[in-house]
Amino acid sequence: MARIRFENVEKKYANGFHAVKDLNLDIRDKEFLVLLGPSGCGKSTTLNMIAGLEEVSDGNLLFDDELVNYTPPHKRDVAMVFQSYALYPHKTVFDNIAFGLQMRKAPRAEIETRVRDAARKLEIEHLLDRRPSQLSGGQRQRVALGRAMVRDPAVFLMDEPLSNLDAALRISMRAEIKELHQQMQTTFVYVTHDQAEALTLADRIVVMRDGVVQQIGSPDDIYERP
Ligand code: ADP
Ligand code: ADP
Repeated sequence: MARIRFENVEKKYANGFHAVKDLNLDIRDKEFLVLLGPSGCGKSTTLNMIAGLEEVSDGNLLFDDELVNYTPPHKRDVAMVFQSYALYPHKTVFDNIAFGLQMRKAPRAEIETRVRDAARKLEIEHLLDRRPSQLSGGQRQRVALGRAMVRDPAVFLMDEPLSNLDAALRISMRAEIKELHQQMQTTFVYVTHDQAEALTLADRIVVMRDGVVQQIGSPDDIYERP
């Protein structure tokens, strides 16, 4: 499973604000899709609908032809990395990464293997006993990535995951995220307002504005038009 389809999707918040309007979008299996646009244009709302964190107000949201409008987040084969990382401050890095697996009562040996594998790929194996407060921003970001990786989701969702990092680190982490996509062979949906980030990462870019999709295409389609 890794195809996602929005059919005439609308999102209206409880206060009446119409955040996403008539969204039609097919996210392909294993592609790296970037949602790009200025703050407030509806990117996070769109991502949160995929995650199941926000309900669809109208239209259909399908995962591989199955309607998921009413499917709760934990029944969707997705993992999300947030801008704030959302790490547990009192847990070690190991337990932060392992949390989802522990919740689902995976066998200890499997947890150990998966956490160490992810930590090795992310080069944070030496930090497994630390707590988040003892890590740099880039290291925290890697822990958040690790936590999503070990769940081995069909869809990886990322909401501005690099925006709390300094410029140099942001650029090196970009390359790591691209590499992660190649290693994991899964669908990535990535939200950013940063054009350069979108250009480096995306197979396809969805440009949004005021809750409406303005353009969809490869980075070349979108930026090399006369
Ligand atoms: P982006 O991710 O592109 O910055 P969002 O999807 O977060 O945009 O928000 C889109 C619009 O919806 C914004 O105008 C925002 O203020 C509004 N919005 C977001 N969450 C809520 C909410 N819970 N209630 C009402 N309006 C909201
Ligand atoms: P299950 O297999 O029962 O669906 P999961 O392992 O998917 O359980 O997740 C258990 C809980 O841990 C979820 O409620 C989820 O909120 C949280 N969780 C795990 N990993 C992440 C993550 N990467 N991002 C956000 N929440 C997560």
